[in-house]
Amino acid sequence: MKYIGAHVSASGGVFNAPLNAKAIGAKAFALFTKNQRQWDAKPLSQDEISRFKQALDEAEILPKHVLPHDSYLINLGHPDKEAREKSLHAFIDEVKRCEQLGLDKLNFHPGSHLRRISEEECLEAISNSMNEVLRQTSHVTLVVENTAGQGSNLGYKMEHLAYFIENSIDKNRVGVCLDTCHTFTAGYDIRTEETYGQTMKKFATIVGFHYLRGMHLNDSKPDLGSHVDRHESIGKGKLGEGAFRFIMNDERIDDIPMILETIDESLWAQEIKLLYGFIK
Ligand SMILES: [Zn+2]
Ligand SMILES: [Zn+2]
Repeated sequence: MKYIGAHVSASGGVFNAPLNAKAIGAKAFALFTKNQRQWDAKPLSQDEISRFKQALDEAEILPKHVLPHDSYLINLGHPDKEAREKSLHAFIDEVKRCEQLGLDKLNFHPGSHLRRISEEECLEAISNSMNEVLRQTSHVTLVVENTAGQGSNLGYKMEHLAYFIENSIDKNRVGVCLDTCHTFTAGYDIRTEETYGQTMKKFATIVGFHYLRGMHLNDSKPDLGSHVDRHESIGKGKLGEGAFRFIMNDERIDDIPMILETIDESLWAQEIKLLYGFIK
C-alpha cells in the first residue's frame, strides 16, 4: 500500500496538521512540530499532545505514516563546535517532541560544511551528532534525507547516506528519506524505466530499501545534476509524470510516508489523486 500526503501546516497548533491532511485526502503527512525558523519553542502541553493524538485518530492516519521535519536552522555538521552543539541540543529537543506526540520518525537534512572543513570531517561530525542523539533519546528513528548538494550541503551522494548508517551505534534507529527532486538534481536520473531501474539498483546496493523510511515526492524545476534545490508541481517540471508512475508501482516502496513538498499547495488534493491514479 502507498501512503501519500503532503507537508501540511501546523499553524495554530500541531493538532491542526492531521486535520489539514485529512482535508486534502492524505493518508500520510509531514509537519514541523515547532516554528522551523526559530531556535526556541514552548514545550508541548499535555492538552496539545492529546488533541494531536485525537486528530490523528479522526484523520485515520497511523503514527508511522507521519514524517515530522526538523528546523531549517539545525546543522549537525557545523564546523564550529559551539554552533554544532546548539544544533544538537535543538535536534534532541525535536526528537523528544516527536516522542511526546507518539511519532516514530524525524526527517532531517544531514548538514553543511560551509566550505570550512572537508566533506569527510563534516560527515564524521554529522555521524557523531546522530550517535549523541541516539544515546540521549529512546524511540525515534533518525531519517536522513538525500539532498541536491546545493551550496555545501552533504547528503547528495548515496554513499553519504550509507556512511551515516554504517557508523550508527543503533542501526534500528536510522533510516533515509529519498526526495525525488534532490535525487534528480544530485545527478541520479529516474525519468525512464531504464534510468529509474539503474538508480534504484544503486540505492538497493549502496543503502538498501530496508532503510527507506520515507519519500518526498517533488518534481524539479532545475535539470539533472544541476545541484539546485527547487521543487515543482508533479508533472510540471523536468522529471515529468514518468518517474512518479515508476515509484507508485514499485513494491519496495510500500507502507512508508510519501510526502508532497510541491510548490502549489492548492494542487495537493489533485496531486494526491493523480499519484494514486498511477497505481496499476
Ligand atoms: Zn524534501
Ligand atoms: Zn528540496
